[in-house]
Amino acid sequence: MTQHDYDLFVIGAGSGGVRAARIAGGYGARVALAEESRVGGTCVMRGCVPKKFLVYAAHFAEDFADARGYGWTVGKSKHDWKTLIRNKNAELNRLEKSYLSLLKGAKVDLIRGRAKVVGPEAVEINGKRISAKTILVSTGSWPVIPEIPGREYAITSNEALDLPRLPKRIAVVGGGYVAVEFAGIFHGLGADVTLVYRGNVVLRGFDGDVRAHVSEELKKKGIKIGYGREPIAIEKKGKGYRLRFAQGRPVDCDLVMYATGRAPNTRGLGLDRLGVAMEKNGAVKVDQWSRSSVPSIYAVGDVTNRINLTPVALMEGHAFADTIFGNRPRPVDHDNVASAVFSQPPVGVVGLSEERAREKGFAVDIYRTTFQPMRHSLSGNKERILMKLVVDCLSDKVLGAHMVGPDAPEIIQGIGIAVKAGLTKSAFDRTIGIHPTAAEEFVTLRSKVPEPVAKAAE
Ligand code: NDP
Repeated sequence: MTQHDYDLFVIGAGSGGVRAARIAGGYGARVALAEESRVGGTCVMRGCVPKKFLVYAAHFAEDFADARGYGWTVGKSKHDWKTLIRNKNAELNRLEKSYLSLLKGAKVDLIRGRAKVVGPEAVEINGKRISAKTILVSTGSWPVIPEIPGREYAITSNEALDLPRLPKRIAVVGGGYVAVEFAGIFHGLGADVTLVYRGNVVLRGFDGDVRAHVSEELKKKGIKIGYGREPIAIEKKGKGYRLRFAQGRPVDCDLVMYATGRAPNTRGLGLDRLGVAMEKNGAVKVDQWSRSSVPSIYAVGDVTNRINLTPVALMEGHAFADTIFGNRPRPVDHDNVASAVFSQPPVGVVGLSEERAREKGFAVDIYRTTFQPMRHSLSGNKERILMKLVVDCLSDKVLGAHMVGPDAPEIIQGIGIAVKAGLTKSAFDRTIGIHPTAAEEFVTLRSKVPEPVAKAAE
């Protein structure tokens, strides 16, 4: 039998790759991990983590205003973008170091460079061929900007996190997670923000009530939203830019940020030449064990385009390592994965939207409430909370729980366990709430939305 250089060669040190490498190393496998950029990947270096710091920063503007209703005299506040970015970067450096020490602890060889798969059990990196019994592709995804004239003027979330200064007028293109999150960040930090979306309500794929509520709240806060608008060109105009549309008035701004989705990072990896089956968008096709069509090659995370969320990639990487190196076969269950949008106010959801539940043939009862957060009784802030449960009439199971409002992601994390466990509406009803909280409303939702209204929301 040929001796391989490694038992496992992982390409990409993002959330999925690092987790798989560490766990496999812990089981005694000889592991190499290739990374051409920073260890930590999109989530830690260019996504969730730095974005959340900016979300926190942006929210202070509202907190200062809210404090007045509680008797505080808040002086004239001023934000220093450079301080925020410097402190954020210092924290990312700390996190990267801690990732490096975890890898060292698991005896993973980190190889700096761009790896290419050159055989079912071979990769090439820095001009050297290395053999491995198993290869794991965890190269993630990258933002895409559509092919329109002037696209070179636009930035993506990658650059948004390290701008030298915050421009005055910012146009954000897109209506998904990234677009609504950054619209809120830039607005909170003082920019004049226009969100430009080709659809008719932001956050396609989310529950209709959630989408409408978020859209309304963004507008109430002063974000301008242009629906039904898809830019056809970006032009330089003076020191700024002009976004042009097939019809209607152009949008002038100092910065254009595109948040129009991400594509799997498989170009130039050599997978197609080996016959690895891929989706149309370049994602690696995998089975429930994260195995590609070439049995020695596996893939986890955004590069597989299953559910593109960090905790999913972590779970996929962990399950892969348990299965292949830990003698503990376990597929990942992709049902009822809770998620959040860190818009302002934020969204937390788990399970099915009302529309999806009906499409799947469920007869559903809908419980819904909107109310003012207690905190705003004195602050005068007009923000409102939305909570909604989608319940299967036949089994009484809660199929979906949705919330828009302060702390929604924190609250839905707990509700997510109940939905994952298959709990029924009557179990929610038997639960005694914690008072006074917003979260208690989830266990005191008593009246169903009348059916015709529920249908109208479809
Ligand atoms: P999304 O796929 O969520 O949204 C892309 C948006 O861009 C949609 O509104 C889409 O419109 C629009 N769009 C697509 N193509 C064009 C085009 N050619 N012209 C104009 N508009 C276009 O992508 P994001 O970049 O927002 O996020 C990428 C992924 O990252 C998400 O799917 C998510 O999994 C992950 N993510 C998760 C976060 C979290 O968990 N909080 C935060 C950020 C990202 P339409 O709706 O019409 O298709």
